[in-house]
Amino acid sequence: MEETWFCEACGETHDGVPFTLKIRCPSSWTDGAAVHPESELLDAHCVIGGERFFLHGFVLIPVTDAERDFEWGIWVEVDEKDFLLRCARWSARGRERDAPVPGRLAVTLPGYGGSTLGIPGLLQDREVGLRPVFTLTDAGHPLAREQRLGITMARVIDLARASH
Ligand SMILES: [Zn+2]
Repeated sequence: MEETWFCEACGETHDGVPFTLKIRCPSSWTDGAAVHPESELLDAHCVIGGERFFLHGFVLIPVTDAERDFEWGIWVEVDEKDFLLRCARWSARGRERDAPVPGRLAVTLPGYGGSTLGIPGLLQDREVGLRPVFTLTDAGHPLAREQRLGITMARVIDLARASH
């Protein structure tokens, strides 16, 4: 679907609505964290100071007037043991049938009127090649409501604007 939309942030008209918006790193990945010898930021894994552990995943939100989900590319903080387990299962066939691991959202998403840092949820692996999916367990949060009820294309465009 090629749609154009005007972006107040740039003052330009953009082509195409982005159905995936990604946050590059956990909020805790600061310049200070990055220089620590036991810190590492990879595509799908992040460790800070050898003691905080993060996995990359997606929050999927149904779009009620489109044929596909909207995806927030996010980071989730998990326990060391769960981090090591998911890493060990990285290329294991059937990993999508493993139990989900508990975690907390480790990024602030624009468009929710406040911080989304620390919202609890469950991270579920998918088939090898796909990043895991994070489902919020704090049902009252606006992001959890969107995940449950879906959003419209107008909201997808609002989120794109908020991310510029
Ligand atoms: Zn823009």
